[in-house]
Formats: sequence, structure tokens, C-alpha cells
Amino acid sequence: MRERLTEAARAFAPLLVEWRQYLHAHPEVSFEEYQTTEWLAARLDAWSIPYTRPTPTGLVGVIEGSRPGRTIAVRADIDALPITEETGLACASTRPGVMHACGHDGHTAILLGLARFLAEHRDFPGRVKLLFQPAEEKAPGGAKAFVEAGVLDDVAVCIGLHLMSDIPIGQAGIREGALMANSDAFTARIQGQGGHGASPHQTIDAVMVACNAVVNLQTIVGRKVDPIQPAVVTVGAIHAGTAFNIIADSAELKGTLRSFDSQVRQQLQDEVQRTLEATCAMYGAKAEITWNMGYPALVNHPEITAVLRAAAEEVLGPDQVYEPRPTMGGEDFAYYARKVPSAFLWVGARNPAVGAEWEHHHPKFTIDEASLPIGMEILGVATLQLLSE
Ligand code: MN
Repeated sequence: MRERLTEAARAFAPLLVEWRQYLHAHPEVSFEEYQTTEWLAARLDAWSIPYTRPTPTGLVGVIEGSRPGRTIAVRADIDALPITEETGLACASTRPGVMHACGHDGHTAILLGLARFLAEHRDFPGRVKLLFQPAEEKAPGGAKAFVEAGVLDDVAVCIGLHLMSDIPIGQAGIREGALMANSDAFTARIQGQGGHGASPHQTIDAVMVACNAVVNLQTIVGRKVDPIQPAVVTVGAIHAGTAFNIIADSAELKGTLRSFDSQVRQQLQDEVQRTLEATCAMYGAKAEITWNMGYPALVNHPEITAVLRAAAEEVLGPDQVYEPRPTMGGEDFAYYARKVPSAFLWVGARNPAVGAEWEHHHPKFTIDEASLPIGMEILGVATLQLLSE
């Protein structure tokens, strides 16, 4: 079974590329992956893999082994981003303003390859659940909906991967514990009182209040959060005003909070709320704050991490698998990891020789497709190991 997997990963390489390129040319944004789901359903039908549709888009396939055992879930996210592609590739997006700019097309192709292999070689105990999950890129995220729909209720372990354009092809990164951050967003509407630019005493200047609020927010990480704990407060957008001689009536701030610790996460939210309200009160303005609590931190389970690391070392060589630093990015695989023992791996897809050197979410983002059979084999080795335990 193990040797056949290596053979299959090699033999399927052109198919993985074909599937990835089809998906790449036909991207759909989060929660709108209807055609992608139909296309996946047709593939699974052709291989006699039964599936359910727990959410309007995305699907969950099940491959039964030849004897009883536990259930292992393998996850791929299937959504694209609202970005206009600028790669100039032959397989570039045929849909203006929509692009697979994070490699999820590759994740989907990898899981399809593993699905076909397992469907053709059922000499294993238990069963494998294939999670073709929608909407990783948009909170509240497809993973949360999958978990709430009961997708993991009979699952013992969940694994997944992300192709990475900042890790060289042929390498992989994995670490146990916190890998990616709590990721929350807020919008604050500051209501002042507009008026003539020459009569500030008769107004409440929303621009001035907003500027003070941004500065005050930046003291939270420096003065309130335990310095041993990672935390970020970013105000990424500020919108107010129309002309040089008009004092703005209102202002809008948009920001994001990142952390690993759940207490720090709560503290950041409380402090941001208090700071915005107090700053507005100081100048007689009013704050209306709406929260969009995003993905929780992704925490890799020690034992499952060890299995996934061993699989990566087996496929790539021990010196090609390293322990990365955590990032403050978010990833909704975190919902699976909170529900069952889980681990998430980063697989290198960087290769400037094929143009794969741009950041994720960049209009020129692409992957080295040699990462596809690598990803399939690593997930396959880990799945077979987890099934045998
Ligand atoms: Mn992604």
C-alpha cells in the first residue's frame, strides 16, 4: 500500500496539474463555490465515492476501507479570492476579478488525487473522510459551518496542508502548538458634528477624534498586554471628510486584532472597545463599534504533528522539514483542531524559475506544480499511518 502510494503520486502528477489548472481557470469566491462543488461531485461519482453536502457549497466524501477502524479526515479548502489575476499564465482565471491567489486550487487537486488513490486501493482499516471545504478566505468561514453540521462527529483525527509561496519547493514546515493566530476585526463609526472649517468651536471634529483614537489604540499592545504574549492591533482603514474647508461629521475606522492566547484575545477586544468609547467621550463624539470575531488560533496537536512531520520527512528527507515560527495570519482549519486532535502542515511551493515567488493574495501569485504530488504523498503517508494506529 505504502509503495503503491509513491507510485500513484508520481503517476498522477500530470492529472494533479490538469485538475489544478482547470480549477485555477474557473475560480469562485467564498460561499459561492457552486460550479466547483458540481465539478468535484462529478469526479467523486466517477470513482464511486459517496458524498454528502453539509453546506450549500463544498462536499464531504467518504472512502470505506476493507475492514473496521477509525475515521480520519483530510481537508482541502476550495475557494478563491476577489482579485484580478496578473500572472499571464495559460491557465489564468477566465473570470474577471476572481482568482485562486492562495493555492487552494492546489489543495483541492491534492485531495482529489489522494481520494482516487484510496478509492482504488481500499486495503486499509476504517474510513477516510474527504473534506472539500468552502470559504476559508471569508469569516465566519466554511470550517465552522462544517463542524456545526456535524462533519467531524465520527472523526478521530483531522489533517490538512497549505502550499506556501515563501517556502522553497522540496521543503516543508510544521510545528506543534500554536501555528496561526486568533484573528478578529472591528469597524468603528465615530459620530461627531460637522461644520465650517473656519468655525471649529461650533463642531465636533470627527477627523481629529479618529486620529486620536488611532494613536490611543496603539498604546494597548505597548502598555496593557503582557509583553511575553504576542499581540497586534492594526487600523488598516480610516475614512472621513470631503473637502479642505468642511469639518467632517463622522469617521470610520476598520481594524484587525491578532493574538495566540485566548485571554489576550478577550483583553484586546475589551481594551479596543473601551479606548474607542473613552476617546470619543473625551471630545463629545460617539462611537458605534461592530465586531467580526474571526478564526481562533490554530493549535497543532503534539502526536498528530509528529505523524505529519514523520510523513513529510519520509517523502522529502529529514533535513528538508523545518520548524517554522508561528505567524499572525489566520486559518479556519483551527475549528477542526479545536474539535478533534489535528495537525496542519506547510508545504513549499516557491520556485522563482517558474514565477512562483509572489506573496499569497498577490495578483501574480502562483505555485510550483511539483508541490502537488509531494502534498498528495505526504497526506497519504500520514493518513495510512493514522488509520493503522
Ligand atoms: Mn489560504
